[in-house]
Amino acid sequence: MHPRSAEERREDLVDLYRQASVCTRCPLAQGRTKVVFGNGNANADLMFVGEAPGAHEDLQGLPFVGRAGRLLDQLLEEIGLARQDAFVCNVLKCRPPGNRDPQPEEIDACRPFLERQVELIEPKLVCTLGNFATKLLTRSQRGITGVHGRAQVHELGGRTVRVYPLYHPAAALRSTGVLADLRDDVARIPGLLDEPAPVPLGAVAPVAAAPPAEPAPPQLDLFG
Ligand code: URA
Repeated sequence: MHPRSAEERREDLVDLYRQASVCTRCPLAQGRTKVVFGNGNANADLMFVGEAPGAHEDLQGLPFVGRAGRLLDQLLEEIGLARQDAFVCNVLKCRPPGNRDPQPEEIDACRPFLERQVELIEPKLVCTLGNFATKLLTRSQRGITGVHGRAQVHELGGRTVRVYPLYHPAAALRSTGVLADLRDDVARIPGLLDEPAPVPLGAVAPVAAAPPAEPAPPQLDLFG
């Protein structure tokens, strides 16, 4: 299949946004004000994935617009990036009532949107924000305290990407220690973006060129 241009992928992302904005695949549709699809650069190398929209996000239809979002913006600025350089979204596109934990059926219903976002945006690095997004995208029960700041390679949206677990900025607002760790981890993002794309899982490493074939054994001189 030929590689798709950024413009083609952006058009498909806009289509996906239209589908998501009228989604009724799970009961969260009934309680939401707005679907929070995600925003930013549709061709970003860098993606951030949080848990689910909160009250501010639900009202505005935009991800990370509260205090946690402002901290994320500040940390990005410290490494010379802006929100527009990245694509920011959540695992769930609708707010769970009272910000309760996402339920398995909500995750199952919403996950195809996230997978397709990754497929269309083609990021090099997917930063998971907090425990919930990290466990889901790394398919592991290992919590954020043990895995933050260490990139892992995973298949997502049919692509091989580096998943980089980060503390959730809301947790960093509550603890100066967590904020210091988050700042250190964010500082490593530019270096990770410079790394070559990860090799697809299960791909066989390129083998050295085959050695030249052995010279044919000299013909036996049967009649000699
Ligand atoms: N927390 C999240 O995980 N996502 C948001 O969009 C806002 C707060």
